[in-house]
Amino acid sequence: MPRHIACLTFDFDAMSGWVARGMATPTPISRGEFGIVGAQRILALLDKYGIRATWFVPGVIIETYPEACRQVVAAGHEIGHHGWTHMPPAALSREQEEDGLIRGNLAIERLCGRKARGYRSPAWDLSPNTIDLLLEQGFEYDSSMMGDDYTPYRARQGDIAPLEEPFVFGATTRLVEMPISWTLDDYPHFEFVRTQDAVLQGLMATGGVLQNWLDDFAYLTGTLEWGVLTYTCHPFVIGRGHRMMMLERLILGLIEEGAVFLTMEQAVDEFLGRAGGAPP
Ligand SMILES: [Zn+2]
Repeated sequence: MPRHIACLTFDFDAMSGWVARGMATPTPISRGEFGIVGAQRILALLDKYGIRATWFVPGVIIETYPEACRQVVAAGHEIGHHGWTHMPPAALSREQEEDGLIRGNLAIERLCGRKARGYRSPAWDLSPNTIDLLLEQGFEYDSSMMGDDYTPYRARQGDIAPLEEPFVFGATTRLVEMPISWTLDDYPHFEFVRTQDAVLQGLMATGGVLQNWLDDFAYLTGTLEWGVLTYTCHPFVIGRGHRMMMLERLILGLIEEGAVFLTMEQAVDEFLGRAGGAPP
């Protein structure tokens, strides 16, 4: 029997992403605060369709909004690790990154009684140490890389990328990679961001993005017997009225395509349970 899985994931950053970029004045903070409004709307929508999702939350946000995070847990969603702060790992020393993984997991343990099984890096930029540290800290999966689209795979450790010589692939590890893509992330399509040296235009109409997102799922159902497609949304982005209507249309379109909605940890378990999913 073919089985096609959709993972809806929400990166519950609130103001942490703006703070990490040094944008800590009242307006960007309020922009992040809108994520709490958006989260309420998302929880209601997911409840309407009986869908369980995965929420990646930075530790500082768990401690800033404990009640909002408790509501996410109470609704049966999975909590994943999204750093202690929203600083990308590539910008941290090994010690800072390790400390953030430990501190974030303590906050997650206090929130839901167990550590996170999965990690997603802030801004999707892993450091050369991240895979080692995730393995040391007992994580089972990561969701920050783009080496496939519908098929989870095993992350590698110790790659070498010499400029003038062929790439050297490192060893395959037990860490499962749940691949993502910027095309399936609400942020670059919709957020308008102006900094000193760049403008992210964003502000796209929802129709074209929705069509792309549904077509990626239709391609999965038309080409593979089994696969997972991961969508990434941010409550402060998708929470606006017209985008919430898009999210509902996405859910309805996926239901029509026969999607099975799973949390990311459930999808990982299913991947591991299948032939070829055995640890290396
Ligand atoms: Zn984030």
